Amino acid sequence: MVIEQGKVVSIDYTLKNSEGQVLDTSDGREPLPYLHGAGNIIPGLEAALEGKSTGDQVNAVIEPEHAYGLRDENQIGKVARSDLAGVGEIAVGTQLQAQTPEGPRVVVVTDMDDETVTIDANHPLAGETLHFDVTVSDVRDATPEEVKHGHVHAPGDDCSH
Ligand code: ZN
Repeated sequence: MVIEQGKVVSIDYTLKNSEGQVLDTSDGREPLPYLHGAGNIIPGLEAALEGKSTGDQVNAVIEPEHAYGLRDENQIGKVARSDLAGVGEIAVGTQLQAQTPEGPRVVVVTDMDDETVTIDANHPLAGETLHFDVTVSDVRDATPEEVKHGHVHAPGDDCSH
């Protein structure tokens, strides 16, 4: 079956950055299912998989613009350490959940001194060119309910929205 809009696709994948470092992999796990054409995965990978079928191997190099976007310096800011007094132990690399007008999002502490903490709200993979090695392990028709919801339902999944 060919991958197109409205198919549920399961993929085995390994994701590396431009230095060849593995960032994520389905190795040792079940293949990842997603609903094609619904924005469940990054646009560049969806485009690379369009028209492929079960058993196909795809090597895709995806520029940041088609992955998690470019890094935006406006997403980096400083807050007073005293403003984070209630958050508990923080260090460079600590992830915090920030409330924004668009809803909660994860920010990362990238620098700190006695007075201020620098936080970065960019996606951790923003600015990265992504290298995907993908094997298509299964393609099936989505159920009408999955199409309506815009995501995959696991067997027996009692999805209530
Ligand atoms: Zn659902």
